Amino acid sequence: ENFLDNKYFNEILEDFKLSVGNKEVEINAKIEYRDVFLNIDRFLFTTAVFNILENAVKYGKEKVKITMRTELKNNSYEISIQDNGIGIPEKEYTKVFEKFYRVATGNVHDVKGLGLGLFYTNQIIKAHQGKIDIESKTDEGTKFIITIPTI
Ligand code: ATP
Ligand code: MG
Repeated sequence: ENFLDNKYFNEILEDFKLSVGNKEVEINAKIEYRDVFLNIDRFLFTTAVFNILENAVKYGKEKVKITMRTELKNNSYEISIQDNGIGIPEKEYTKVFEKFYRVATGNVHDVKGLGLGLFYTNQIIKAHQGKIDIESKTDEGTKFIITIPTI
């Protein structure tokens, strides 16, 4: 399957909700209901998105709020995932994609992790000729923006 049909993101979000456990998580989705042709490996792409969703819960506060948006642009498809967590300092934006890197501040000592999730996510998105950007504010939240070229 090399296209994302309009059910794809809803299925990811449904699977994600089942994996969350007992933390309170509110998910809002603004998904474009159109079939989009992207040259993607669905399994890998799902892993990439899942890692970001997982982090939203891990580095979130008491009540996690996630907003996922997809938008079809001229030559690309944009997927953004906004959380209301602890945030990532600007000087760490590129470092968090490095292998085994974890930000030393925040709740990193209470939360287990290897620092591999975003490394893999970035590798996967790059393998799809795409990119990931971060916009974040400390204590307010983080937005990950994935851009993938359309066919
Ligand atoms: P793993 O994903 O391998 O279990 P991890 O979550 O620590 O471990 P990454 O997902 O690669 O590793 O994230 C790297 C680091 O970036 C995290 O340790 C955390 O410090 C920071 N980080 C990632 N996502 C967020 C987020 N949504 N909000 C705040 N900090 C984040
Ligand atoms: Mg992670």
